[in-house]
Amino acid sequence: MEEKKVIVVGGGITGLATAFYLQKEARDKQLPIKVKLIEASDRLGGVISTEKRDGFVIERGPDSIIARKKSATRLIEEVGLKDKIISNTAGKSYIYARGKLHTMPEGSFMGIPTKVTPFALSGLFSPLGKLRAAGDFILPKGTPKADQSLGAFFRHRLGDEVVDNLIDPLLSGIYAGDIDELSLMALFPNFYDIEQKHRSLVIGLNKSMPKPPKTAKKPGSKKGMFISLSTGLEELIHRLEARLEEGTVMKETAVKRVLKTGNTYQVQLETGDVEAADSVVITTDHFHAQQMLSQYAFMEDFKKMPSNSVANVALAFPKSAIEKDIDGTGFLVSRNSDFRITACTWTHKKWPGTSPEDMALLRCYVGKPDDQEAVDLSDEEIVEIVLRDLNKTMNITAKPIFHVITRWRKAMPQYTVGHLERIARVKKQLGHELPGVYLAGGSFEGVGIPGCIDQAEAAVEKVISHLS
Ligand code: FAD
Repeated sequence: MEEKKVIVVGGGITGLATAFYLQKEARDKQLPIKVKLIEASDRLGGVISTEKRDGFVIERGPDSIIARKKSATRLIEEVGLKDKIISNTAGKSYIYARGKLHTMPEGSFMGIPTKVTPFALSGLFSPLGKLRAAGDFILPKGTPKADQSLGAFFRHRLGDEVVDNLIDPLLSGIYAGDIDELSLMALFPNFYDIEQKHRSLVIGLNKSMPKPPKTAKKPGSKKGMFISLSTGLEELIHRLEARLEEGTVMKETAVKRVLKTGNTYQVQLETGDVEAADSVVITTDHFHAQQMLSQYAFMEDFKKMPSNSVANVALAFPKSAIEKDIDGTGFLVSRNSDFRITACTWTHKKWPGTSPEDMALLRCYVGKPDDQEAVDLSDEEIVEIVLRDLNKTMNITAKPIFHVITRWRKAMPQYTVGHLERIARVKKQLGHELPGVYLAGGSFEGVGIPGCIDQAEAAVEKVISHLS
């Protein structure tokens, strides 16, 4: 086969993993494939960004990778970072609701009870709220639907209180979205299947959840379900960059358009230059992807696909400044509370070793779906809001030693009702009209880091099959 050129657009984790695995496959299978990765900004990593300061490792974006999904661990090991993997402390976590902090009820899986007693005893819900949740045992299953919102589905089964005080805060922490807009089938199709099969979510979950193997955890084991890197997640980005063949990466170069010319493509850059390619993997957010292919009507859907903004606010204190220290790793905030923060992680407890011994690092988020303007406030205003909310639960007397605020504008893509159908339609049209052009990344088929790496691996397979 004559040499083929693949252009990967975007250098976040999806683009980097795509370029890395493409080059690996090409080497292993001796395929004459040249890869170029084009990134608009002056750094790689996209939303993965770590700041190191005064002995703290501060994640400006993601901080946790779910350990159960193996593609991320595999990639981390592949680039030689196995010895840097750390696990979170499985401490207590809390929800702020009905005016105070409540321990997360034991046995809840994404907010759905799998044990009745901890729910019955929890102060998170009123007696009426609990009674309504028990409706799950008797209510008939919902009528089969192609899709529905997470909110509609869970409200029907468990009632508003369980949704607003538990499920919504847990899901908002991941998707930063409105539970009444997000798609059940794109995010948790397994819950729909459970309802259709077992009627009751509580009974169905108990029946279908794999029982932990007896040897899985030593008694007293404090390891949680997430992993990270002791030196910060950006280390994975640096390692990937270093493992790419020389001359692969082009930074500070935005792609403007992708045009089809016969069986190949022209990738037009903002600089006015043009790069020819036999295959193109677009790993940017959906807004930029739409602009690159704006001549195609089937990409119009992405103009309407929403993305939310959040600000990540890290505050450093001496431990002595936290007068009311609470045992645990952090708290989430219920939908109806008067807080403007949505979550707070006690990072020094969740990730021991990432703060100096006598220091505390609190990492909070602002920017509820109905409070997007919070992200645009000044640093001083944001710090004031965060401290005011924190002081309702923790009693912090001092000002932070420093703060690091990162505003992520339109960086949380929203998989709203109908998402799977829209993606399937776009992929089908892409296949017809632009064979060899693929979309991958957080906007499309999985928002978490492992989901992005899975998409990168799938794109590599498709590119190789297309080229051969
Ligand atoms: P991005 O990281 O957005 O990268 C896209 C890249 O494309 C960027 O570098 C951008 O500059 C570039 N680009 C854009 N336009 C162009 C253009 N025209 N030409 C060239 N390049 C372009 N996931 C988890 O698993 N765990 C977490 O704890 C977690 N926390 C998160 C916290 C925050 C604040 C955010 C925003 C996300 C979080 N996520 C988390 C989700 C996860 O981090 C992202 O889904 C994932 O990193 C997205 O990677 P990506 O490569 O698809 O996109």
